[in-house]
Amino acid sequence: MKNTTDYLKNVNDYQESNYRCNKCRDMMFIIQEDGTAKACECRSIRIAEDKLKASGVSEEFRKMRFENFDYSKSKETMLAYSKAKSYSKKFEELRVARQNSIIFCGQVGSGKTHLAMSIGNVLLDTGAGVIYMPYRSSITNLKQSITDEENYQREINIYKNAQVLMIDDLFKGRITESDINIIYEILDYRYFKNLPVIVTTEKSIGDLLEIDEAIGSRLYEMSKNYVAEIVGEKLNYRIYG
Ligand SMILES: [Zn+2]
Repeated sequence: MKNTTDYLKNVNDYQESNYRCNKCRDMMFIIQEDGTAKACECRSIRIAEDKLKASGVSEEFRKMRFENFDYSKSKETMLAYSKAKSYSKKFEELRVARQNSIIFCGQVGSGKTHLAMSIGNVLLDTGAGVIYMPYRSSITNLKQSITDEENYQREINIYKNAQVLMIDDLFKGRITESDINIIYEILDYRYFKNLPVIVTTEKSIGDLLEIDEAIGSRLYEMSKNYVAEIVGEKLNYRIYG
């Protein structure tokens, strides 16, 4: 919203549902009964989005497009590509559905992150709020702030409430109980609020279920039709007999 005229025009043109946040109508603050302004809870999410737009990660991120993805590597890569493409095309109808998420399982170099980011870019281009959560560093940050309740809530709130959350490399590395608890808190919340996730992981759905049944089953339920497993190279080296 650039200025008051824009804002008023938008108020007249848009229905309630066109606001990304109905509580503050995208003003990021709320006027309270006593006339003072209070920051809306969506504010920290918007700030994180702007950070993504402004950060160096984002530049690399923005280069990851369907147009520069090589899907000719294997049959599974091609299948994953077409699932990703169809997900991004149907996103508007999918986002309100029970199954509104997508998950890419595959080893390093399988192209899963490229595909996830390609979807993210299509959604960003249409104005959706996409939050990028690089699993390893984000989980470390969250755990460091766990003793500071206010700080922790502010951080985790971003991942819980983002319009679209992209978790990159879920459960990479050693997994502790507090990693599981944090991820469960985020996913369970998003599951009940019907908020989509885009996940990449080296684990299979079976692995995820084994790590934590509640997390695995939530993720599967949210993305059923859009589970893309890219085993890739491994296939060529598998020894039969
Ligand atoms: Zn708001």
